[in-house]
Amino acid sequence: MKDVIIIGAGTAGLTAAIYALRSGKSVLVLEQGNYGGQIINTPKVENYPGIEEISGYEFASGLFRQAEKLGMEYRCEKVTAIRPDKTVETAEGSYQTKALILATGAKNRMLGIEKEEEYTGRGVSYCATCDGMFFRGKRVAVAGGGNTALEDAAFLSNYCEKVYLIHRRDEFRGEEKLVSELRDKENVEFLLNKTVQELEGETALQAVILHDKISGEEIRLEVNGLFVAIGQVPETEIFAGLVERDEKGYIVAGEDCRTNVGGIFAAGDCRKKTVRQLTTAAADGAVAALAAAQM
Ligand code: NAP
Repeated sequence: MKDVIIIGAGTAGLTAAIYALRSGKSVLVLEQGNYGGQIINTPKVENYPGIEEISGYEFASGLFRQAEKLGMEYRCEKVTAIRPDKTVETAEGSYQTKALILATGAKNRMLGIEKEEEYTGRGVSYCATCDGMFFRGKRVAVAGGGNTALEDAAFLSNYCEKVYLIHRRDEFRGEEKLVSELRDKENVEFLLNKTVQELEGETALQAVILHDKISGEEIRLEVNGLFVAIGQVPETEIFAGLVERDEKGYIVAGEDCRTNVGGIFAAGDCRKKTVRQLTTAAADGAVAALAAAQM
C-alpha cells in the first residue's frame, strides 16, 4: 500500500512526487517510457520563472534527481488497468494506494495523411531535437504554428540548408518573440495558409505536396525531412470509464485537480485546461500532491 501513486513522470508527475514526498508520504511513480515527458525534447526553455535558460533534458533530469533524493520509488511499467478501488495493475504487478494522481500528459498529433506512418523514421519526424542532426545541410519543412513548430524551425535552421515553416493560417499561435527571431533568419521561409496534403518519395521522403487554402493551387516542395509539430492529444484512453473525460479525451478536473472520483487527481497536460505550459504542469503537480497528501 502506497500513500500516493503517480502515473506519468513528466513535469506534472515529478513535481507531484516532490510535493507528496516532502509531505512525508510514500510515493510510487509509474512510467511506461522514459521520465521527463515532452519537455525532454525541447532544446531551450527560456520561460520558466527564475531560470533564464535551460535545456529540456537538463530540466527534466534535475526534477528526477530531486524526487529520487527525497525517496521516490520509480518503476518503468505500463499501467494496464485501474480498478475502482484505485488498485493499479501493470504487467509486472498490482499496487494499492490511498490517492492516485494521473499525470500521463499528451502525445504528438499526426497529420492524418496517406503514407505518414510509412515515412515515419524515413523523413517524417515528430521530434526535431531527436532527429534534426540527420538532416544537417539538407532542406526540411516544419508543419505547425505553435511554440513547438517555431522552436523546431529555429533549432533546425542552425543545421539545415533551408527550413520551410508550413502553417494552415496566416497568423501563428506561438509567441511573437519566436516568430520575429525566425523572420530574421535567412534560411527560414514561412509558407502560410497552406496544408500538407501528400508525401512523395521512393524509399525515403523526397517531397511534400502542399495545398494553398487561398488560391487552391498545389505546390511541390522538395525536402528530405518533414517535422510535424501540430500539437498533442491526451494520453488518457486507459482512464476511460474510470474518470470523466471531455470530448477530446482530456480529464475533466478543475484548478484543484480533483476528478469526479474521490482520491483521484489529474495533473498537467492530460487535464482539461486552457494554458499548457511547464509552469502550469508544475503548478498542477503541487496542487494535486498537496490534496492527495490529505487522503
Ligand atoms: P499548439 O500550441 O496546440 O499548436 C499546434 C499548432 O498546430 C497550431 O498552430 C495549429 O493550428 C496547428 N495544427 C493543429 N492541428 C493541425 C492539423 N491537423 N494540420 C495542420 N496544422 C494543425 O501545440 P504546440 O506548439 O505543440 O504547443 C503545445 C503547448 O506547449 C502550448 O501551450 C505551447 O505554448 C507549449 N509549449 C511551450 C514551449 C515553451 O514554453 N518553451 C515550447 C513548446 C510548446 P491553428 O493555430 O490554426 O490551430
